[in-house]
Amino acid sequence: GIYAGDQASYDSFALLLEPIIQAYHGFSGDAVHQTDLTPVRLPELDPENKFIRSTRIRVARNLKAFTFPCHMRLEERSRLAGTVLPVFETFSDEFKGHYVSLENGDEKVLERLAEEKILFARGDRFQDAGGFNRDFPKFRGVFFSENRHLRIWINEEDHLRIISQSASSDLAGVFSRLCDVLARLEARIEFCRHPRYGYLNSCPTNIGTGMRASVHICLPALEKQPDLLHRIVTSHNLQVRGTGGEKTRVTDAVFDISNRQRLGITEKSIIETLAAGIRAIIDMEKQIA
Ligand code: ADP
Ligand code: MG
Repeated sequence: GIYAGDQASYDSFALLLEPIIQAYHGFSGDAVHQTDLTPVRLPELDPENKFIRSTRIRVARNLKAFTFPCHMRLEERSRLAGTVLPVFETFSDEFKGHYVSLENGDEKVLERLAEEKILFARGDRFQDAGGFNRDFPKFRGVFFSENRHLRIWINEEDHLRIISQSASSDLAGVFSRLCDVLARLEARIEFCRHPRYGYLNSCPTNIGTGMRASVHICLPALEKQPDLLHRIVTSHNLQVRGTGGEKTRVTDAVFDISNRQRLGITEKSIIETLAAGIRAIIDMEKQIA
């Protein structure tokens, strides 16, 4: 794997990174990334409420004034938390919420939030090798709205992971809430952006939109035909992860299906691509069940 240590790495190490970026995202040498964070209208994805358990969209964002998390020292992580927390405190209405520190949060509260999967854990061996776990869990934490629809991870793989989530198939609604939160954040915080690559993040797979939109979808019939599932997923430019996230297994036939491409595609197109693919997957699941 490969991670960037700061915003400038994308230019300083372009000889190394550009070919990886082009191959992973299918991004050509003269392409320029475009952003479109405007809400979409979509027909209901799972009107019978039979397949989709939940919908989650996350974006990664890094602040212009700091190096990236694999490179950060304790003092910088502390300063970062001190910069973003007052901004979250300005959130009103449906985004009003609390911050819980992984380091000195109340143990019972942390346990409950871990069960609700609101917290994040120490990084895996790749992140560990990259330096992301340095001083863990100091200045790591999660801000979440009272209704749990918004979660913001602080000092994980990126400075911020902003997550909009709902236990439903309402992809358009989850996206619209995310657009709203991002506009509130951008009014007060300057994020790293590149003239060609869009938003810059630690992992080159996450640059551009920094967005992964996923549904947890139950597919017992397609689980028995992995080649067929793989074919539909790939032909719609989507990817499959396990139920517990990247590098985990699928349990009870619940797949995490999400966009593969995050650069050279707008946020709005990611949502439309996912919706089209999920519709095709549900049709196939019904046909072979
Ligand atoms: P990312 O790096 O995009 O945040 P990961 O694969 O590391 O994603 O997963 C992060 C967490 O989000 C995992 O606990 C995973 O189970 C959860 N998750 C991913 N998609 C969904 C979804 N649609 N509904 C509920 N939880 C999800
Ligand atoms: Mg992850």
